[in-house]
Amino acid sequence: MMMNRRQFVATASVAFLLGRSKAFAATYDLVIKGGRVIDPSVSLDAVRDVAIVGGRIAAVEANVTAEAAETIDARGRIVAPGLIDIHTHAGRSKEGPPMCLQDGVTGWVDAGSGGADNMDAVAAVARGAPQIGRCLVNIARTGVVTPAGELHDINAANVAMAEAAILRNRDVVVGVKARLSDNVAGDNDLEALRRAQQVATSFNLPLMIHVGQNHSPLRSILALLKRGDIVTHIYAPGKNGILDEKGILHPEVMAARRRGVLFDFGNGVSDHFDWDTVDKATRQGLWPDTFSTDWNTSSKSSGVVDLPNVMSKLLMFGMSLNQAVACATVNAARCFPAFDDRGTLNVGAPADVAIMDLREGSFDFLDNYKGTRTGRQRLFPSETVLNGKRVART
Ligand SMILES: [Zn+2]
Repeated sequence: MMMNRRQFVATASVAFLLGRSKAFAATYDLVIKGGRVIDPSVSLDAVRDVAIVGGRIAAVEANVTAEAAETIDARGRIVAPGLIDIHTHAGRSKEGPPMCLQDGVTGWVDAGSGGADNMDAVAAVARGAPQIGRCLVNIARTGVVTPAGELHDINAANVAMAEAAILRNRDVVVGVKARLSDNVAGDNDLEALRRAQQVATSFNLPLMIHVGQNHSPLRSILALLKRGDIVTHIYAPGKNGILDEKGILHPEVMAARRRGVLFDFGNGVSDHFDWDTVDKATRQGLWPDTFSTDWNTSSKSSGVVDLPNVMSKLLMFGMSLNQAVACATVNAARCFPAFDDRGTLNVGAPADVAIMDLREGSFDFLDNYKGTRTGRQRLFPSETVLNGKRVART
């Protein structure tokens, strides 16, 4: 353990006062012992101890023997960087963030719950969250309106108002959101997207678009996206999706990926994915860059359940566990600079850790059309460590 001179003197005097013999032994606040550490940010998948001091990762080693104030026995469990969920609605109420923290989610993005009219309330929830909460401002001034849809009147997409909302909340707004499906935007989809991109570009921020059953062909939509922009609900079935009528992936999808557009799962509850589309798209190589739940406070009792459950759905299709963890950690962190230094257990990083159980058995998973598929593995959230502190189970 490195210390500066003042810390050294302080530690030495405390040890002297306590009359302790191991005056110079490294002492950790918390050691997570014996778990299978999966940290794709450093290509690590091995049984390791994770030692934490002062809220940061201090060591990831085969056998940490120094004493620790607290120990978590993680034998038989997965120890991953804290999960980051880039499409949630956790900002709708202050109850949301502590709930998803229980699932191992140590960082979240609220994707467009708030527009110019209600952004300040969502931003306040983000600021008050125990973990890092960030928001995308909806290009529609109302934010998400269900079931009516917020973009049927294009005047709702007000560029100046969205920009003012960002300026008021620059500390937590990390991007722009536009929901473009037919039931939300109708034939305003492309114009709403242009306005959203205008706002995003002027602040040099990423834009996240929600697709599915769009009025306009997906290629026209993808053409308006820049590097770093995110498409969520990529496996939405129905008209103008990622597949043509024969089930072949449109070439524009992979072309968009090659120029840096990111593809997000976005589980949600209605019309956002079906098993058949996941099957056909993954067979043609379209795997998600990131998972997300489209989470809200009722997700526990929907087909979403929690982020580890959503990750398990792609394990069922043959995604590797390492890749699934990457999608929910380092890949998600790289979408937004606000998550620099997160999504990793590298020494020196803030100590956010998700401990999960990977159980073998028979598990039923739901798509958005009441379709069930049965998988052999499922990840369950077990414990969360946030900024070096074990989160109490509720
Ligand atoms: Zn959403």
